[in-house]
Amino acid sequence: NAKASGGNGYRFFTPEMNEAAVARLSLEHSLREALEQGQFFLHYQPKIAMGDMKAVGVEALIRWQHPEIGMIPPGKFIPVAEETGLIVPLGEWVMRAALAQIQDWRRRGFAPIPVAVNVSVRQIATPMFGERVFALCQEYGVPPELLEIEITETAMMSNLAYIADTLNEIRGRGIRIAIDDFGTGYSSLSYLRRLPITTLKVDRSFVSEAPTNADTGAIAATIIAMGRQLGLKVVAEGIETEEQLEFLRLHHCDELQGYFFSRPLPPGDLETRFLQPDGVLEVAG
Ligand code: C2E
Ligand code: MG
Ligand code: MG
Ligand code: MG
Repeated sequence: NAKASGGNGYRFFTPEMNEAAVARLSLEHSLREALEQGQFFLHYQPKIAMGDMKAVGVEALIRWQHPEIGMIPPGKFIPVAEETGLIVPLGEWVMRAALAQIQDWRRRGFAPIPVAVNVSVRQIATPMFGERVFALCQEYGVPPELLEIEITETAMMSNLAYIADTLNEIRGRGIRIAIDDFGTGYSSLSYLRRLPITTLKVDRSFVSEAPTNADTGAIAATIIAMGRQLGLKVVAEGIETEEQLEFLRLHHCDELQGYFFSRPLPPGDLETRFLQPDGVLEVAG
């Protein structure tokens, strides 16, 4: 009840709500501080091609090492960053860090590998987002074909009108566009024809149960078949077992991601375990 004790009687927060609000406020404060003090970094999880089981792409995933609390997972702070708008500067930091990493790998003679960056719809909805991402590619000397953005299906569906033009701009510049967590959005499928999508990422919830639950298996198989028939690349998320891999092989999934192959890794570990030399010999001098 809002009309509680004292004064003119209006209390907007119960003690519990107040606690949550204070926690949120301090998290918001910590996020700002973290950006200023460089507490964020990126890990990279490989995407493995079904054909030769080689890494054909990587996904950049943000990590936050707080000086007192330790590691804070993105599931804890990305939602707060989105609510407060901090996702815009944070997202720009992620984009710059990923582009700098691609540039570094190119300089050091690794074979080019596409990098996928998760972006929030709130970021995409900022003015000139497409133009600015392309300008960043140029600033870092990165061919836009090496960049992919991942957008979660639920976020994309509830904001179609705002982001369709921007997605066309982005795709027109050569940047690839993936729908993340596909299958969880309960959405009409007609948008797949209208948006310039290149990649479907089948949500982990379908992958994990596909071999053991016939209904889930039917849905997973149908998503893969549909994606391929639409000419999209289909990537399965969250593979943890041999049985899941076998299911996905049987149903011709294109690429695979999950702990079965590798957890998200610091760049150095990714280099030694998954990156290939370019094959083109650098001329010294
Ligand atoms: P996502 O983009 O769907 O990323 C996949 C998540 O599943 C990652 O969690 C990854 O570590 C985890 N994962 C990968 N393989 C497996 C597996 O085999 N089993 C299990 N149980 N999990 C697996 P993470 O890094 O905690 O990220 C969670 C979510 O946070 C991401 O989901 C993404 O939506 C968001 N996120 C991460 N980095 C960023 C970022 O830079 N910007 C934005 N806007 N969101 C981000
Ligand atoms: Mg993702
Ligand atoms: Mg995902
Ligand atoms: Mg997912």
